[in-house]
Amino acid sequence: MFGEGTKEQKNLLGGKGANLSEMKTLGVPVPAGFTITTEMCTEYYKNGGKNSKELLADLDTYTKRLEEETGKKFGSDTDPLLVSVRSGARVSMPGMMDTILNLGLTNKAVKGMVEKTGNPKFVYDIYRRFIQMFAEVVQGVEFDLFEDVLDHVKEKNNYKGDLDLTADDWKFVSEEFLKIVEKETGKPFPQDPKVQLEMAVNAVFESWDTPRARIYRDHNGIDHSWGTAVNVQQMVFGNTGDKSGTGVLFTRNPKTGEKHIFGEFLFNAQGEDIVAGIRTPLELDDFAEVEPTIYKELTDILDNLEDHYKEMQDVEFTIEDGTLFLLQTRTGKRTAAAAVKIAVDMVKEGLIDKEEAVRRIDVNAIDQLLHPVFNQDSLDAAEVLTTGLAASPGAASGKIVFSSEKAAQIKEETGEKLLLFRKETSPEDIEGMIVCEGFVTQLGGMTSHAAVVARGMGKCCVSGCGELSINEEAGYMTINGKKYPELTPFSIDGTTGNVYAGTIETKAPEFSEEFQTILEWAKEIKRLGVKANADNERDSLQALKFGAEGIGLCRTEHMFFDDERILDVRRMIIAEDKESREAALEKILPHQLKDFKEIFTAMEGKTVCIRLLDPPLHEFLPQEDEVDEVAKDLGIGAEKLHRALESLHEFNPMLGHRGCRLAVTYPEISVMQAKAIIMAAIEVAKQGKVVKPEIMVPLVSTIEELTYLKAFIKETADQLIADAGIELDYKVGTMVETPRAALTAAQIGAEAEFISYGTNDLTQMTFGFSRDDAGKFLKEYKEKGILPNDPFAAVDQTGVGRLVELATKEAKSANKDIIVGVCGEHGGEPSSIDFFHRAGLNYVSCSPFRIPVAIIAAAQAELNNRK
Ligand code: PEP
Ligand code: MG
Repeated sequence: MFGEGTKEQKNLLGGKGANLSEMKTLGVPVPAGFTITTEMCTEYYKNGGKNSKELLADLDTYTKRLEEETGKKFGSDTDPLLVSVRSGARVSMPGMMDTILNLGLTNKAVKGMVEKTGNPKFVYDIYRRFIQMFAEVVQGVEFDLFEDVLDHVKEKNNYKGDLDLTADDWKFVSEEFLKIVEKETGKPFPQDPKVQLEMAVNAVFESWDTPRARIYRDHNGIDHSWGTAVNVQQMVFGNTGDKSGTGVLFTRNPKTGEKHIFGEFLFNAQGEDIVAGIRTPLELDDFAEVEPTIYKELTDILDNLEDHYKEMQDVEFTIEDGTLFLLQTRTGKRTAAAAVKIAVDMVKEGLIDKEEAVRRIDVNAIDQLLHPVFNQDSLDAAEVLTTGLAASPGAASGKIVFSSEKAAQIKEETGEKLLLFRKETSPEDIEGMIVCEGFVTQLGGMTSHAAVVARGMGKCCVSGCGELSINEEAGYMTINGKKYPELTPFSIDGTTGNVYAGTIETKAPEFSEEFQTILEWAKEIKRLGVKANADNERDSLQALKFGAEGIGLCRTEHMFFDDERILDVRRMIIAEDKESREAALEKILPHQLKDFKEIFTAMEGKTVCIRLLDPPLHEFLPQEDEVDEVAKDLGIGAEKLHRALESLHEFNPMLGHRGCRLAVTYPEISVMQAKAIIMAAIEVAKQGKVVKPEIMVPLVSTIEELTYLKAFIKETADQLIADAGIELDYKVGTMVETPRAALTAAQIGAEAEFISYGTNDLTQMTFGFSRDDAGKFLKEYKEKGILPNDPFAAVDQTGVGRLVELATKEAKSANKDIIVGVCGEHGGEPSSIDFFHRAGLNYVSCSPFRIPVAIIAAAQAELNNRK
């Protein structure tokens, strides 16, 4: 019986049953009832779809107890007991399983009800509702047969809606319904409430195993073996007259989190009338004015419920002839903004502590607060044309362009909002990417150039959009065969991967005071450091604003594409001897110096980890069709540039001459970069600021690569510091992004002052998946259950993770002072952050816009993994 179980018994009583029992214990007015346990359901299936003797005996016992508690009798012709029969699994499966209302009505009981209420219109209305529901749900009779009768009555009498039907009409309808059931099932409608109840319970058990319920469970990771409980509860009616009604409410505003009851009420109505939206309900504030006494009773109960559950509640209630009943309470769903406000308010109110507040934040929803999102109304009307990978969150609308030059040009001329659609992007697109609102690429995965740059800029990106085909020359693209010319308005959502035609209104992100508070609390709790991947002053400032504790990765190559320096970079690449290379490097140096000074100044007092040049050199050379023009700028023959392009061509450039391998061939590049870093640090230090530079060597596989390059770096740096005559601490470390580096971390750790996992490359090389191409088939891997998710988005804990664990352990035992971090894209992903916490890393580094997510995820990792 309700009142005999507790809210903790969800596994046995289901969520609804456990809560109803708990409410009853709290003294909340809940209609009487009992719960048939989930064990009975599993038993039913074990028996091959039959109820055990035990259940049948129990049903009898508890029905009797219910009759005693309510003072009513099943099938009575003076005051019959009517019940609802509802499913209730451990976790809610909205709309998936069946419900039957008004059970217990029979021809005889109807008489009793009319007598008791003096309201035949109401009684025949609920009878016909019951017959139809029972026949559909329990007996499988077609819905349309009943609707036809109703339509006929309305048509004949010229009625506008159900409310116009008279008592006689409903009587006629219910009699017709009984006939339909008899005709369709070959038997009269059951007139024994106990038989009705047993049939209804079986139907609810059966509804656990329908195809739609199975699909829902598969989709939501719910175990098929759990079974459902069944709640049998006395009916209360909101539709007995003007002193009755029904309402739904949240104890706080689910959109904003404001502490004010938010809900709706309908006089003389049943619950489904609110959902159906036929009549306009009353706001609860207005209801309070009409019925102040009941409203006060209601709010007292709600305060009690919040105090008890320490959570915002979503409540259904009914008033029957002036008496209030609560039918359900559960944790209310809410927006990310509301979740943050409610958690902070509840700490202030003393309901929960700071740790619980941080634990309650859904990190995956936090993105809503940091990026623009579509306006829901405007989104509802939009059509999804295609979906790609949700590569960088946020929403944007603009006119489509297919090349970066065109984007820059149109932006300059018109100032219009643009979206860049490309087969894929490369560092050369940077100018176009700066002026566009967001990007879509046909190829590429979660760590493609477009995805990484978008996250860094806080712009949205959809990558790996396979149904897209771009014809740049002809100035149009096609999606599933339909053409869209350049400058057609489009909208994209990098949080879902959806691409829409037309403009959808967006809403700016809100960064509330409460959100700042949650971040402060999370910082107090977390153990992992949270740093930023930032390549320039602007990104550094953004990162600081979001709470970054340093820079964990500054990719220097992005600086090389600037108009002023690309020519010197190209001169450096085509140089045929060391002297001319050094001459070109000498010209690049002042630019790098300036970049680093800006970053050190912005990040005063915090560590700044600068990675030496990493990409294959061909990425800096022009495309074939631009060779002539660029050769002219360089003052060389086109032939020579063609030769350089040819000689740099590689079949697998991402596994080729890049990272430290470039520096081994051309140590002078590392020397120039080390010089720029240390000179910048010295200049900023001389202004009285604390500078903490870290120089990071990319892509090592052997300890010898590191020792070879470290010698050049140290010699350069130490000389400069000695010449300047100041104290300056700097660190030299390396990335661990090849499996061999991870496997030899004991050696590497002994030599490096820090290591940082480049999990983008480490994932690529551990799986042997190309990070630029794997997007094409990874979706299928996920769908077929071969991989649980994209390993470029959430770190593969079993394989790549094992390397990380092993390398961390061995590096730390070889060098107890070593600092271990991660700067691959996984550094901003919550499940990966939890893993890195457990693996004993010191920090994670991620794009500036992921920092708040990482801070909260790091705090939750600490809370989740406390012994
Ligand atoms: C990595 O490989 O994880 C990394 C951070 O480097 P990049 O993405 O620049 O190769
Ligand atoms: Mg890398």
